[in-house]
Amino acid sequence: MKNNIPIYGENRIRIIDFLRGTTILKTLNNLRQEQYFSSELLTEKNITKKLMKFNQAKKESKFYETYSSYTDIPILTKEIIKCNINSLKSNIFRGELIEKATGGSTGAPLVYLTTKHAQSFMWASILLSWETAGYKLGDRVAFVAGTSLIKNSIKHKIFHSLLNIKTYSSYNLNDENIKYYIAEIKKNKIRLIYGYATALGKIANYLNQNEKIEFPDLKSIVTTAEILTEKERVNIKKAFNVNVYNQYGCNEAGVSAFECEYKKMHLINSGCSIEVDNEENLITTNLVNDGFFMLRYFTGDKIRISEIKNCKCNRGYPIIEDIKGRSYDFVVDTNNKSMHAAFFNILFKGEKSIDLFQVEFDKSSITIYLKVNEHKNDPTYFDKYLKIIQKNLFFKEYNIVLDAPFQSTKNAKHKYVIDKSFA
Ligand SMILES: [Zn+2]
Repeated sequence: MKNNIPIYGENRIRIIDFLRGTTILKTLNNLRQEQYFSSELLTEKNITKKLMKFNQAKKESKFYETYSSYTDIPILTKEIIKCNINSLKSNIFRGELIEKATGGSTGAPLVYLTTKHAQSFMWASILLSWETAGYKLGDRVAFVAGTSLIKNSIKHKIFHSLLNIKTYSSYNLNDENIKYYIAEIKKNKIRLIYGYATALGKIANYLNQNEKIEFPDLKSIVTTAEILTEKERVNIKKAFNVNVYNQYGCNEAGVSAFECEYKKMHLINSGCSIEVDNEENLITTNLVNDGFFMLRYFTGDKIRISEIKNCKCNRGYPIIEDIKGRSYDFVVDTNNKSMHAAFFNILFKGEKSIDLFQVEFDKSSITIYLKVNEHKNDPTYFDKYLKIIQKNLFFKEYNIVLDAPFQSTKNAKHKYVIDKSFA
């Protein structure tokens, strides 16, 4: 593979690596090569690395010292990590351990420790996903996201300006802000937009409903952090007139995946070793963190790995067939039957008058909040959906509310499902 990357762009990463003590450029170069290794070779390397990580954790940490084999070690939950934060540390690691917290869409964020090497992997894997979408190092990028991507410290501001990133908050995306963002994207000749699917969906709705705006400098859009529905993808693509790629990461777990030119989601299996249990829960061993061991970690995401090993793009990384998102994206009815949020996605798929939905439930009632662009004065129009929901989920009370404001999480990601009994 030949890459015509301007030195100017590479130098930006060199400066970041120098200032922050990271190795993003080196890691990116490795990933660029490695992605085209055969699936067999990558699988073999993955198994070797997993066993090496187990031996390292056994030798260097209190938590893993008593386990004799990989299969004996327990599934690591957030609660276990919380109670064992010191015994999961490596006792010989001399580098800096950086404290991080996960996005916390569950309410209780997880505090874990990471290293410069693991951080380098995370950034290199994001850059690889952008490159796959047509980005060249140094290209100007717009971030449209909440706090889990946009941090406002001076350190982060320098980092963003070195990476040539402009940040735009996904909070309060009203028409006025959207108009401003659109003008900024044009004025700054943004080449790539990276952001939350629902935030970009809102901007896309505005664009699709108003006079056509051209973005001649824009190459593509990469969405992240939320599930990208097919409807949303089509919507965003139509508004910006560029291809939309999805990217998926679970940083604490060393998990990073990106969509290729053929819309296949490839998992970078040099960062993690994964298991998927009978209920499709993603359990991972972080292979890139040498300072804090997270082996067989229960991520809370549900995924399915494809049987297909070959992709037209020639990448050897395994293919994720489906990401069902966090396991709390489920509605549980009065009889304890659980239904994934995807049920509602499918239910409303062909309904043009619904822009976005949110489902709120507790032990006895369920309320569907709908943002609609039609039938505002005729709520009975949506009764047909209630009937289908009643057939599939049992509650004492069912409601549909039109155009009420949605609840969002602290980091402004859209939540499709809210369990009121936890609130
Ligand atoms: Zn592919």
